[in-house]
Amino acid sequence: MEHLLIRGGLVIDPSQDLEDVLDVRIRGGRVAELGRDLDPGGAQVVDAAGLWVTPGLVDAHVHLRVPGETHKEDLASGGAAAAAGGFTTVVCMPNTRPPLDDVIRVEWLRWKAQEQSPVRVHVAAALSRGLEGTELTAFAELKAAGAVAVTDDGRPVADAGLMRRALVEAAAVDLPVLVHAEEPALSGGAMHEGAVSAAAGMPGIPAAAEAVMVARDLLLAEALGARVHILHVSARQTVDLIRWAKDRGIRVTAEVTPHHLLLTDEDVAASGFDGDWKMNPPLRSEDDRQALMEALADGTVDIIATDHAPHHRDDKDLPFPEAAFGVVGLETAVAVVLDAMVPGVLSPRRFVEALSTGPAQVLGLEAGSLRPGMPADVTLIDPNREWIIDPARFRSRSRNTPFAGRRVRGRVVRTLVGGRTVFCLEDGPAAPRAAERLARAAAAGRAGR
Ligand SMILES: [Zn+2]
Repeated sequence: MEHLLIRGGLVIDPSQDLEDVLDVRIRGGRVAELGRDLDPGGAQVVDAAGLWVTPGLVDAHVHLRVPGETHKEDLASGGAAAAAGGFTTVVCMPNTRPPLDDVIRVEWLRWKAQEQSPVRVHVAAALSRGLEGTELTAFAELKAAGAVAVTDDGRPVADAGLMRRALVEAAAVDLPVLVHAEEPALSGGAMHEGAVSAAAGMPGIPAAAEAVMVARDLLLAEALGARVHILHVSARQTVDLIRWAKDRGIRVTAEVTPHHLLLTDEDVAASGFDGDWKMNPPLRSEDDRQALMEALADGTVDIIATDHAPHHRDDKDLPFPEAAFGVVGLETAVAVVLDAMVPGVLSPRRFVEALSTGPAQVLGLEAGSLRPGMPADVTLIDPNREWIIDPARFRSRSRNTPFAGRRVRGRVVRTLVGGRTVFCLEDGPAAPRAAERLARAAAAGRAGR
């Protein structure tokens, strides 16, 4: 039986109210014990001095492009990217081709992921058939097939009546509803609507396109006693609404992406309107960005999720209005969030809460904790290590990031899933293995076409 001792790291685990230099013993794929100066007793020892030892990070919002767009990402490459970014669990969105809107597809994806991904993959199933926003999917059956949430992410649920029925049905089977908030009648632009878009003559997406839809769904949730999770919050107006809703006792949780915490529409202009800076919702104003930082620090926004959205160069190397929406995020999230962590605003504990314990709670997953008995999903982070983000070295099959060439501080050095090392920065054996997997998967993809 495998036996591992992670020695002398700063264990940060909000689920146990813990922030202390401790050893972590792992046996049989689970956390066995935590303590000071534990006896190795024949264990393989991993020296974690100077490192943070956290419950494996959980990304509640990724696009793995399976099935249908494996030239952008697949379960092996997306899983390897997650491992390199410190994520031991990811939740993939259903806007694939075809969409994940029935039991067969959800079961198929979960089975494929177990076979191909080095990290745990959960599925958020479609809320409406074909993501068409007219007819609900079968929530109870999808939950029985293993779906952990329902959402039409990528598209808004424009019909308020359908959303109302979805909240009722989802509450009946206790599935979270993940809201992509975007009023279609106000949307359709390429970037945040404001002074920068006006000066550049770019079509804009007003903050209200998000906020009015959030207001609608908060009011529906209140009337029904249902719960909602707001995906990728980008605007101060939305933050204010969520704060109001939480004060009223409405059951709402919310997420923010690393890129919305760090970047603004001014940066989009400074990039020369590079397609790699285009995403939905768009990067907004400095005032919005500050509102997001405050909301994350005070808990109004509960968690951080990457909205990892791989795209091929052909979808991005286009004039800005035509480029595809979305950026990759799995491999840069830790560094980008640590970069955005103003001392005294966002503590290491809040960092772990937002990236591990929190998302596990929002989605009801057995993750986000190093309590003895839990699966030994563990992330080791060097908070001081400086590096330069180089997309050519990504495990992801796609490179569409606005952070290329950025000097950052804070790096994942080892990731364990069920006690097994799935990524190790230093000795690299996990890296060639991942590269091999990629080559094999690519060959299989070509053969299957
Ligand atoms: Zn979305």
